[in-house]
Amino acid sequence: MEFDLIELIRTRCTVARADVRLGIGDDAAVLAVPPGHELAVSTDTLVAGVHFPPGTAACDLGWKALAVNLSDLAAMGATPAWSLLALTLPDATREFVDGFIDGYAELAAQHGVALVGGDTTRGPLAIGVTVLGFVAPGRALRRDGAQPGDVVYVTGTLGDAAAGLRCLDRRDAHAHALFNAPPDTREALVERLNRPTPRIAAGSALRGVASACIDVSDGLLADLGHIAERSGVGIEIDADALPASSALLALFERDERLVLQATGGDDYELAFCVPPARAGDVQRDLARLGCGATRIGRVIAGERVRLFDRDGSELVPERSGWDHFG
Ligand code: ADP
Ligand code: MG
Repeated sequence: MEFDLIELIRTRCTVARADVRLGIGDDAAVLAVPPGHELAVSTDTLVAGVHFPPGTAACDLGWKALAVNLSDLAAMGATPAWSLLALTLPDATREFVDGFIDGYAELAAQHGVALVGGDTTRGPLAIGVTVLGFVAPGRALRRDGAQPGDVVYVTGTLGDAAAGLRCLDRRDAHAHALFNAPPDTREALVERLNRPTPRIAAGSALRGVASACIDVSDGLLADLGHIAERSGVGIEIDADALPASSALLALFERDERLVLQATGGDDYELAFCVPPARAGDVQRDLARLGCGATRIGRVIAGERVRLFDRDGSELVPERSGWDHFG
């Protein structure tokens, strides 16, 4: 049965690459790294009930499991090439794997990523994906290069995935308004949660331009905190500059919206720093790739990430809103 599932997976992931010397079916894959490149490698696991709500469609899980991994390669400025898939399934139903691999294969095809191996075991539902990509030597985007004076940007819009999660939560205090919202608006947010877009082209375009880069998986402030810490700098963010989708604007008042934008996870946008001399071009260059970017703040000498309201007071996220520090 396990063999059948592996065969099903193999036949459904049809991206073929000449650099895969030996793919699924042997004890290990054999891969040829193109000369003059370094490998960027990353792995992420999704656990049922922790990383996705119960009831998430299998095909959305397949998409998301690969997307969150490709997002890590995007944040490094790497070009994805290969993936491995470790599936732990409670009862290895063909139906689940069928749906799962639909979503996985759809995104893999978009980025030309070959599935070269994995593992299939029985146990509580968990999905581990490993991705490998190429980057020119020494050119990977890192977290530790931000300098005081750099401008801080983020791609796309923020808070949508966290808002989508709230749309699915029937216990949410806001639920009444959410359930009365136009279905299109709710669906747009849930789509952001279930089908994040890894910003591969943007990450590539930022090589040699951005001084530091990270993907927003845990929330903007938390993730920029990693850049601040690794770079030994402080970061100031303007609350009113944070980009919002029309769906988010339609469903949430300002205070609640800012919490989602500044602290909501799962958006998989890129947050990055650019030296002032390069800042002028970066938005135009990304826009040409179909990826909007918004200037949201600045890097300063110091430490920590701080969010400022329009009156200059600092906004500190609390569990259910904001604390104001004048
Ligand atoms: P082994 O006992 O050597 O680990 P497996 O039966 O686990 O062999 O796997 C057989 C082949 O199928 C290997 O090439 C492995 O990489 C591949 N494989 C197993 N599970 C998956 C999966 N979920 N996705 C892709 N390839 C898989
Ligand atoms: Mg195995």
